[in-house]
Order: sequence, then structure tokens, then C-alpha cells
Amino acid sequence: LIQARDVDKVFENGCHALKNVSLDIHRGEVVVIIGPSGSGKSTFLRTLNQLETISSGRIEIDGVHLADKSTDINKLREEVGMVFQSFNLFPHKTALGNVMLAPLKVLKRDKAEVEQEAKDLLYRVGLHERMGHYPSRLSGGQQQRVAIARSLAMKPKALLFDEPTSALDPEMVGEVLDVMKGLAKEGMTMVVVTHEMGFAREVADRVVFMEEGELVLEESPERFFNSEHPRLQRFLGQVL
Ligand code: ATP
Ligand code: MG
Repeated sequence: LIQARDVDKVFENGCHALKNVSLDIHRGEVVVIIGPSGSGKSTFLRTLNQLETISSGRIEIDGVHLADKSTDINKLREEVGMVFQSFNLFPHKTALGNVMLAPLKVLKRDKAEVEQEAKDLLYRVGLHERMGHYPSRLSGGQQQRVAIARSLAMKPKALLFDEPTSALDPEMVGEVLDVMKGLAKEGMTMVVVTHEMGFAREVADRVVFMEEGELVLEESPERFFNSEHPRLQRFLGQVL
């Protein structure tokens, strides 16, 4: 579904954030990316939905080449959703309003239909009882679940998660990971940057280790966590 080949990214300030990164993500797969701060994890995710351009290499999503002049970037961003560490909900809209907004404004779809789907999505993330609440009256974990429902409302082909639980109090991490596990079970294609090794072990089809802009290792969870790769060992030694 997603194919990245020899992706290089050099920022204007000269920072070489991605070096020759190649990764295939197949339909229905969950790929977890781990690595130290500054290793290029967020930059890589951002290139996948064109929040960031690439310096060289190529990225294809469902057979569409991102760099083609004819590629509709807005359409592509609808097809590849992104969930951030900071939930970025609209404060003046309720949970339901946040989930309905993009299908109404961007896709210009029928309101009654969008509302029904939004309610179903909030049910799915366990928040149907709070759909009338404003973000300020929701916990961090609840806000992040609304943010996930909001991404799902666009019916994306894949979802990218950039440290979705890093900003949460520990007691709220589980409820968000549970929603993500549910999505994985239902066959959603997901790329997840996280420090939650338990999630990687349990849910990932493949785990990727990035360091200094390079994709160092890509393995099944079982092989990954038993790997004796020295760079991975050093990293795991620091975080575990
Ligand atoms: P973290 O775990 O801290 O989120 P990360 O792995 O997501 O780190 P990136 O945010 O992708 O790392 O950053 C990779 C490198 O690119 C870093 O050296 C960072 O300073 C640099 N970088 C990121 N964004 C920009 C930018 N807009 N302009 C210049 N350099 C940038
Ligand atoms: Mg990051």
C-alpha cells in the first residue's frame, strides 16, 4: 500500500534527517517505528502524507507516485490520516463536531449521514456518552480517542500515529492503545511511532529501528526483540 524507496531528506539548515530510507507497508499491516530522539521518525511519517517534501527517492501510495505533478496532495492526505502526540482538537467544537467537521467541510457530504457515522465512530472508541462534550471537558486519553475517530471519519486507507500516547498520563495510555489494537484487528493499515515496546511486541507485524536518519533494522517483533544488533542493543539498553 505504501512504498518508500531510497528516501532522503535534507532540511534547508543542512540537517540530513533521512538517509536512504526504504520501507514497504502492505495493506492491513501494522508497522511500529522506534528510535532515539532526532532519528527522523516524525520526519519520515510526515513525508508519507506529504506534510514534508523529500529531497530524493520516491514514495508511492496505493500505486500513486507522490512526486507526480498530477497527484492531488489534498486527496492523498485524506487517504492517509495522521494522529499526533498533541491531539489538536478544535476547542470550540464538541467531540461529535470534531469528528463531523472534515467529512462535512472537505468532502461536502450529507449531514445526517456524516452525523450517524460520527456517532458510530465515537461508539467504537468508547466515547458515545461524551459526544456532546467539548475537548476542555475531556481527559487527554479521551481527547486522543476523539482525534482517532476524527481521522477515521475520512475513511483513510492508512493511519499514521506519531507518539500518540507520549503526552498522556500513564493511566490513560492503555485506553488509547486498546483502541489502536482494535483497529489493527479490524485490518487497518497503520504506521506507529511509539516508545510502547509492549504494543510493538504484541500488535506489530514488523518493527523498524531508526537511528541518525537511517533505517537500521526491520524485523518481525520476535526477531526484533531478540536481535543482537549492537545499535539496537545500545538503544534498548537506554530505554528499558
Ligand atoms: P523525537 O523522538 O524527538 O520526536 P524524531 O525521531 O521524530 O525525534 P525528527 O523530528 O524526525 O526526529 O527529526 C530528525 C532530525 O531532523 C532532527 O535532527 C531534527 O532536528 C531535524 N529537523 C526536524 N524538523 C526540521 C525542520 N523543519 N527544519 C530543520 N531540521 C529539522
Ligand atoms: Mg518525533
